[in-house]
Amino acid sequence: MSNRVSIGRVTIGGGLPPAVQSMTNTPTTDVIRTRDQIDRLQSAGCELVRLAVPDQESVRAFAEIRRQTDMPLIADIHFDYRLALGAMDAGAAKIRINPGNIARSEQLQSIARKATDCGIPIRIGVNSGSLEKELLRQEGGATVNALVASAERHIDRMRQLGVENLVLSVKSSDVCKTIACYQKIAERVDVPLHVGLTEAGTIRVGTIRSAVAIGALLAQGIGDTIRVSLTGDPVEEVFVARQILASLNLGHSGVRLIACPTCGRTKVDLIAIAEEAERQLVGVDKILTVAIMGCEVNGPGEAREADIGIACGKGSAVLFKKGKIVRRVKESRLVDELVKEVRAWNSQE
Ligand code: SF4
Repeated sequence: MSNRVSIGRVTIGGGLPPAVQSMTNTPTTDVIRTRDQIDRLQSAGCELVRLAVPDQESVRAFAEIRRQTDMPLIADIHFDYRLALGAMDAGAAKIRINPGNIARSEQLQSIARKATDCGIPIRIGVNSGSLEKELLRQEGGATVNALVASAERHIDRMRQLGVENLVLSVKSSDVCKTIACYQKIAERVDVPLHVGLTEAGTIRVGTIRSAVAIGALLAQGIGDTIRVSLTGDPVEEVFVARQILASLNLGHSGVRLIACPTCGRTKVDLIAIAEEAERQLVGVDKILTVAIMGCEVNGPGEAREADIGIACGKGSAVLFKKGKIVRRVKESRLVDELVKEVRAWNSQE
């Protein structure tokens, strides 16, 4: 089992439920838009947010954003160690570096000293696109062995510099390679693992690829924080991450929505109802299963099995709660009534 590491108010590792994180895609220097995006991410259930810090102007913006939100912020740093030092002064709850591109040991030493003094964890982000040349030569490319060797080397180096508060990611854009890397590294290190597939793709394809890679790892107990990378609005990443967790019954996951695929028996606009319910239930911090079923043949069974469910008929539906019929609801009121029940849900009742 991995060690525990605290990133501001969020603790990961040691068997805790994986924390959901995302990354803003606004220029960090645009404080208003970045802060707004962080607020939207938080409402969707995001627990940690990473911001790119490519220059000193972004360090100043980072400090301002820090003042405007209580979300733990992670600074993403490449190349320039002074940005890492500045981001820690600016209130970063964690910094993410790729030690491969901050090569000079006195620079890495300054980062290590400050992080240790301030109790700020460092994520070592090993990426298949930026592996050490010598490892690439030795292993014949960005293979699983090369990625794992690079990760172990960086962990050793940071530990030699006195840093114990470490998080590790070993990312590739290849699903099978990502799974193999994390399986291997999980056997060899005790630092918490940040799991994700890099450059996963657009929302549709990236969701599938991320769910396969991250889901396969989480199902084996590998992964302490997850980031779904999608080419799109980062709020979508949070939605997908939470659904991956919900599918595996892992904590902080939110509502698990199941809906039938519809067929010739469906007499209501079930697709619109399910989509609207899904939209309204994003970020609702309750752990329960909601079933939206299209007919009174198979519907009642599934709706009864769920915590809250509806089985639709013609123009109306029967609403179930904890396996019992609660009332009949008109089609036009279905989503409102369903969401109302979810918001009022108390599993202890
Ligand atoms: S639940 Fe009913 S409407 Fe939905 S797919 Fe099954 S049979 Fe068809």
